[in-house]
Amino acid sequence: MLIRFCGAAGEVTGSCHYVEAGGLRFIMDCGLFQGGDDQFERNTAPFPFDPKLLDLVLLSHAHIDHIGRLPLLVGSGFEKRILATHPTVDLCQILLRDSAHIQEEDAAWKIKRLRKRGEDASWVKPLYTQADAEKALSLLEGVDYNTDAPLNENVTVRWSDAGHILGSAHLELSLKEKGVVRKLVFSGDVGNRGTPILRDPTLIAEADVVLVESTYGNRLHEHLERRAELFRQILTQTLDRGGKVIIPSFAVGRTQEILYELNPLAENGLLDSTPVYVDSPMAVSATEVFEKHPEDYDADAAALMRSGDNPPEFPGLHLIRDVEESKALNNSNEPCIIISANGMCTAGRIKHHLKHNIGNKRNTILFVGFQGQGTLGRLIKDGAKQVRIFGEMHTVRAQVAAIDGFSAHADRDGLLWWLNGFRRPPQRVFMVHGEDDVAHSFAQLVAEQKGWQTSVPKLGEEVEV
Ligand code: ZN
Repeated sequence: MLIRFCGAAGEVTGSCHYVEAGGLRFIMDCGLFQGGDDQFERNTAPFPFDPKLLDLVLLSHAHIDHIGRLPLLVGSGFEKRILATHPTVDLCQILLRDSAHIQEEDAAWKIKRLRKRGEDASWVKPLYTQADAEKALSLLEGVDYNTDAPLNENVTVRWSDAGHILGSAHLELSLKEKGVVRKLVFSGDVGNRGTPILRDPTLIAEADVVLVESTYGNRLHEHLERRAELFRQILTQTLDRGGKVIIPSFAVGRTQEILYELNPLAENGLLDSTPVYVDSPMAVSATEVFEKHPEDYDADAAALMRSGDNPPEFPGLHLIRDVEESKALNNSNEPCIIISANGMCTAGRIKHHLKHNIGNKRNTILFVGFQGQGTLGRLIKDGAKQVRIFGEMHTVRAQVAAIDGFSAHADRDGLLWWLNGFRRPPQRVFMVHGEDDVAHSFAQLVAEQKGWQTSVPKLGEEVEV
């Protein structure tokens, strides 16, 4: 089989792996590159394969860094099937439409800014439009978990729960070539064990070739109890000094988890009736998708649902879809908690909240997720004194805090636990979806601990295995 690493190689975004095997040409994921001044150019660059010759696309989960280039793929002539689990298909409807909307909005902002300065804006185009997203969505087909789906006479694929977000999966491919059957496993993004609502990642017993993510391959997360304590401390300190807590958060999964943590604080009076705003139409829609798929909940969440309790609801919680309501938050001085997307501050309403709140030392910007290199979120998290938002420089006077334990990704030990599921050593293990130094240190650790042949592919690298 031939594998070409077309994204998330030495970095955490743009997940895309091209495979030729068993008489098929396909890609696993088709994600957006996020962060860096050249992100627009990287996303619009031609794919390192011919989209017209692809037989199909397989998706691991609905995060935009795994699906966000699908409209561009379709725009380049791909018109076959895109397969994913049912919840992933449902989430793609929300996320791809939202992504297209953000692209259109960003382009409109840029045009407005250039015209204000009397400059030419005729060259500004959105990365893709709503119409492009709709074309991609029309090719999506839902599949069941834990069922072998034949792709042709030589290849079958199975999606097993990765416990990362609703619908997330590891892909297990069985590929027959020259009479020999071999197994390719792509981890997708591996979740944390014990995350509320979601099931734990699935252990897979057999593989010849493994592509494993390595986002947190050199880190250990804060313990769940320590995480809750830190969270409470940061909130109360900020609210006590009359500030706002701004939480950049992924709309799908993370926002629901933050609400799950806020619920007992609010119900026990620890938030002192402070309003909590979820300012993201997508988060509201995502919650509806969660409610549609209780069959994919873990045992605890399923039991809660049956008893009629809905954890993401508590006094003081306001869900905001409307733009005017969102804007009204900018003019308010009351202490509050604002959760808004996107999680790495590269686009969306969170940028407006940062613009209006980052200059006030009473406020706290609280990061609860991974910040990719070159993103606005990463700059702030790393302590930048000044940052550019919507083309204007802003001095960072707000406190900046981070809690890594909320990550939807397994940490180093979680990834090792998952790899330990393989009962015999895979022939090759490729560390993908990790920043270069992190992926290398994880590759070295696995090679030392288990004696497996590990490597970190470079972007565009091709291997015959
Ligand atoms: Zn993900």
